[in-house]
Amino acid sequence: MKKVISLLLAVIIAVSIPATVLADNNGCSCDTAPVVYVRGFGGAIYKVAEDGTQTNAFAFDADKITPHIGDIFVAVFSLITGNADSFSKSAGNILGGIMGDLACTYGGESLHNIVPTASDPTNVDKHKDFTLEISAEDRWDAMYDFEYDWRLDPMVIADDLNTYIEEVKAVTGHDKVVLRCHSEGNCVAAAYLYKYGHSSVEKICMMAAAANGINLVGQLFTRDISLKDKGGEIAYFVASLMQGSESAELISALLDVLNDIGLLDSVCNMLNDALVGDVLDTLYDEVLVDSFATWPALWTFVPDTYYENAKQAMFGTDAKYSALIERIDSYHYNVQKNLPKLLADAKQDDVSLIFFSQYNFAPIPVYEENLSMGDMLVETKYTSFGATAASYGKTLDLDFNSENAKYYSKDKIIDASTCPYPDYTWFIRGINHAEFPDAYEDFSAWAILYDGQPTVFTDSAHPQFVYYENGEKLTPVTEEIPTDSSNSFIRLIKAIFNA
Ligand SMILES: [Zn+2]
Repeated sequence: MKKVISLLLAVIIAVSIPATVLADNNGCSCDTAPVVYVRGFGGAIYKVAEDGTQTNAFAFDADKITPHIGDIFVAVFSLITGNADSFSKSAGNILGGIMGDLACTYGGESLHNIVPTASDPTNVDKHKDFTLEISAEDRWDAMYDFEYDWRLDPMVIADDLNTYIEEVKAVTGHDKVVLRCHSEGNCVAAAYLYKYGHSSVEKICMMAAAANGINLVGQLFTRDISLKDKGGEIAYFVASLMQGSESAELISALLDVLNDIGLLDSVCNMLNDALVGDVLDTLYDEVLVDSFATWPALWTFVPDTYYENAKQAMFGTDAKYSALIERIDSYHYNVQKNLPKLLADAKQDDVSLIFFSQYNFAPIPVYEENLSMGDMLVETKYTSFGATAASYGKTLDLDFNSENAKYYSKDKIIDASTCPYPDYTWFIRGINHAEFPDAYEDFSAWAILYDGQPTVFTDSAHPQFVYYENGEKLTPVTEEIPTDSSNSFIRLIKAIFNA
């Protein structure tokens, strides 16, 4: 009987799918290929209980934290008294309570039944609304959102992306889509290009791409963390996050004063002494490795220069991780290391490439040598696939009479001539990794909607280097960022008077 029913079902599906596809797929005559948005890390995902009810798996609500108030006290006390084992045990309880739903197996698969928000490609006509005439906010609704479980292996997610792209093509009647990717979405798109090629892709717009890695994750996964003497870097980090806001000058001057009197360094060193060393190592061994290093997606953020050391630092020679290692190696060596070739092959076949790289943010200051230029999370050299960038707060020594000068930013922070695609790589100053202000949306939509391959010289309103301030439009970079090199106390007093 079961066999008959499943046969019947198969026949119904086989008959009904082509019928709906045929009904919609008469070929759309509009010029706008549907834009498939492959979002970054951290979208809503849900835990499905046995009775089918769904709860948000990525919510940090009181229900999850309250049972662990006691553990929080124990953790703090253990940290103060330097009891590594007790600290990691209570920290493990807290983390398990908050993040337990998100755990993966040693092989890198979800432990629980977790589903992303449904990706719904059935709105046939909305792709026609993706124009420059509508508002940036409305334009979000004109994209086809691909939702996925951002903890998991992009090689597996790529299969779902392929299914989704095929569905979007079928319902819209277009034979190609535009892939608009943000952050981790670029890793998923890269895995898709590796597995399925680029024949269904008209354009790839890579925004704040994490596909070449993130130094912070490389440092965390090699256990190379330091908070020692980080006062100056913390002042830079906060000041860079505040840039463009009204209180930026005041906060920056205040932090500089606190740093100049040594207070920030003292706090950092206290934390460093309490946490880094035995306590952190125990925490890794007891909690962090199995809570986070088992998420395959985080491995896509480990830059190649860290990769082999990171595997050693996280898993050592423990055989229980061998399936996971095989999984992440496959991504790393076939996709991350192979991405320049995947993109070159796509370009060869007339797929348009667009890169958006954000800059002028200091990185999260928890490791040595950490003033590399970035968007707060991902280094600019990675999101641009190879630009030369000054350290945060510094400038490059550039010869504006050289033949490459057309690729130099006038603020002397970026030399784009070292990018593989300098003509298709735009640099946005002052918008951090997680921000999508309307001005940026409008700017990127121009490139997405351009008929063919846009370049940084195509339109004077969309030059290679622009900056963002106070919610205004993106403005061409024409000069160095003004700096005030006077004493921090004097700047603080000036800022208080200006406030
Ligand atoms: Zn159309």
